[in-house]
Amino acid sequence: MTATGRAACVIGWPVEHSRSPLIHTYWLRRYRIAGEYRREAVPPEGLAAFLASLAGRGYVGANVTVPHKEAALALSRPDDRARAVGAANTLWFDGATLRSTNTDVEGFLNNLDAGVPRWDRDPGSAVVLGAGGAARAVIYGLITRGLKRLVLVNRTRARAELLRQQFGQPIEVASWEELDAALADAALLVNTTTLGMQGQPELEVAVARLPSHAIVADLVYAPARTRLLVDAQARGLRTADGLGMLLHQAVRGFALWFGKMPEVTPQLRALVEADIASQPAKP
Ligand code: NAP
Repeated sequence: MTATGRAACVIGWPVEHSRSPLIHTYWLRRYRIAGEYRREAVPPEGLAAFLASLAGRGYVGANVTVPHKEAALALSRPDDRARAVGAANTLWFDGATLRSTNTDVEGFLNNLDAGVPRWDRDPGSAVVLGAGGAARAVIYGLITRGLKRLVLVNRTRARAELLRQQFGQPIEVASWEELDAALADAALLVNTTTLGMQGQPELEVAVARLPSHAIVADLVYAPARTRLLVDAQARGLRTADGLGMLLHQAVRGFALWFGKMPEVTPQLRALVEADIASQPAKP
C-alpha cells in the first residue's frame, strides 16, 4: 500500500446520489493507495466556508456537484475550460491556491476518442441537442477539436442563442421542427438534454435520417443504454455513451489528488453499470 493518507470528497446538496465515491474508491483499491474519498453534504449557504476550510479538513481536493458548480467557479481560480463552461466540477490545491477545472470537456472527448478512434479526422458538422451546462462543455470540446459547423437545438431557443453569442461562428441555432433537416448531413449527433433519463420523457429523434457514417453520443448515463443509443446501434451507427463519459471525466481529479493516472477499465464500467441498474431512481 502507498500510505498517502490523502483524502478527497464530492461536495453536493444533496450528495447521496453521486457515483464519484464508487469510482474513486475502486481506483484507490486497484492502485493500492491508502487514500479516502468521501461524500460531503454542504448546503448552498455553507459552501464558501466549507471551501475556505477544505485544506484544514484534510482534503487535497474535491469534486463539486449540483447545485454548487457555478459557485465553486467563483470561489476558486479556474482554468480556461472551467471559465468557458461557466462551471467547475474538480478542485485541487496549487500551493495554497484553490484551483478549479471542468472535466466534462475531456470526459466527453476522451470517451469519444476511446469508442470511435479518429472520429475528429474529418469531423464535418455536428448537431447538439440541449443548451444547459453539459452542452457548454460539449460545445467547447468540439470547437477545440476543429468542428466548423455546429447546429444547436434546444427547447428554449433563447438559451441556445446565448451559447451562440458566447461561442460564436461555428454555432447555428435551429428549432426542433428543423431538426430532421439538420440530421441529414450531421456527422455527429450529441444529446445533452435530460430526455431519455430515467424518470424523464423519452427523446424522440429520427435516427433513420442520419447519414450512415454518423456517430451518435448520448450524455445520459441512467439508463446506460438509452433508446437513442439502442436505435443508433440497430442502424449500424457508431456510438459513445454517457457512462463512458462519466468514467473518463473522473480521471484527472484522481490523478491530481492521488498522483496516479487511473485507467477506465471494463471492470470499473461493469461496477458502475450494475450500481445504476440496481438503483434506478438515482438521478
Ligand atoms: P441542465 O443544465 O439542467 O440542462 C438540461 C437541458 O435539457 C436543457 O437544454 C433543457 O432545455 C433540456 N430539457 C430538459 N427537459 C426537457 C424536455 N422535456 N424537453 C426538451 N428539452 C428538455 O442539465 P445539464 O447539467 O446540462 O445535464 C444534462 C444531461 O447531461 C443530464 O442527463 C446529465 O445527467 C447529463 N450529464 C452527463 C454527464 C456524464 O458524465 N455522462 C456529465 C454532465 C451531464 P431547456 O433549456 O429548454 O430547459
